[in-house]
Amino acid sequence: MKKFRWSVLVQLLLCAVNVFAQVTVIKAGRLVDSDAGTVLTDQTVIIRDNKIDAIGKGLATPANASVIDLSQMTVLPGLIDCHTHLADGKHGEGDPMFQLKKTASQVVLESVPNARVTLESGFTTVRDVGVYRALNDIALRDAINRGDIIGPRMYVAGAYITITGGAGAMTGMAPDIQLPWDFHYGEANSPWEVRQKVRLLAHDGVDHIKVLSTGAVLTHGSNPKSVEFTPEELQAAVDEASHFGLRVEAHAHAAEGIKNAIRAGVASIEHATLIDDEGIALAKQRGTYLDMDIYDEECIQADGKIGKTPPDFLEHDRELGQVQRENFRKAVKAGVKMSFGTDAGVCPYGVAAKQFAFMVKYGMTPMQAIQAATSSAADLLGHSKEIGSIKPGKYADIIAVAGDPLQDVSLLENVQFVMKDGKVYRQK
Ligand SMILES: [Zn+2]
Repeated sequence: MKKFRWSVLVQLLLCAVNVFAQVTVIKAGRLVDSDAGTVLTDQTVIIRDNKIDAIGKGLATPANASVIDLSQMTVLPGLIDCHTHLADGKHGEGDPMFQLKKTASQVVLESVPNARVTLESGFTTVRDVGVYRALNDIALRDAINRGDIIGPRMYVAGAYITITGGAGAMTGMAPDIQLPWDFHYGEANSPWEVRQKVRLLAHDGVDHIKVLSTGAVLTHGSNPKSVEFTPEELQAAVDEASHFGLRVEAHAHAAEGIKNAIRAGVASIEHATLIDDEGIALAKQRGTYLDMDIYDEECIQADGKIGKTPPDFLEHDRELGQVQRENFRKAVKAGVKMSFGTDAGVCPYGVAAKQFAFMVKYGMTPMQAIQAATSSAADLLGHSKEIGSIKPGKYADIIAVAGDPLQDVSLLENVQFVMKDGKVYRQK
């Protein structure tokens, strides 16, 4: 009898939830269908709680729905930045060694505004690809998911998997300085050590794995033109990650390191600065995404002029920025899969959309640039069923801009409306 009463109660509650679901209707003057690469006009989007319920022309407005009038705007899916570092604390401290002056708690609390400004600028999702202090990104992601703080959906890496003294290591100290565990959590120096790190990170609850295949620009004692992990180590990372259903992204500047990572089966190459013709052909053949941060050179050089970028970083960077942009153009022309990733943290947080104009300047159509940050980005993350376009069943992650971003893509730098998970975070 008692059991029966409970089931009745549960049924009643479910009915009540359905009746009292929050219904929102968006009237969209123009709407970008990022899957099809087309623009629809006079669309009605019906949102029930946090999901898109229906979309079409002339749909009836359900009773009790709250209506948001974006009929004078262009409505797009929430943007996705596939290469961010939101959990590294306050932007603009120059040398990474500043991390040694703070506790992990200070750094992660300083990161709270980074998450907020990213969301408010129209990026409803980020793939965060590494932190100086391991697992700070997990703390930030979970605080956002609980609703304690405001930010985008975060898919996080937990730590950099890197060789000792490599691109993802904290370097520049005297050899007898011992760092706390979280500064070198991801260091690995053999295929089996790589596997152990992947296992640890999977257990910690990461969403993907970040490996560093070559040297870096913004690391002391590093050479972006050098290879770091061997093909065996990269293969171990991809194979081990697959056991946990995780994808791998590889930081790579040098041509050989890019090809090693593509052959190992990574989902994306980050930076891809010195990719050669063979690398472009391989990426195309294997369906590997290139996630090229072609805007942040502006910030590295501007910070260099005011003495904020360390001189050795500027030396590493010499000429690489322009080469990367030309290689971006080649890859676009060759039809390689491209995603939108900015390395947010190099430039200030909240300005990622400035990269759109550069992507168009270097060979993309505005629609291709938008797709790189929506449908293609969702595909790279393995979350096409939930995000990346405005379709029934997906999360209500929706933005709007005044004017036509397909004529002037830089309009995306000034997003007027932001909804994430059915909740409005910005409405100008
Ligand atoms: Zn990065």
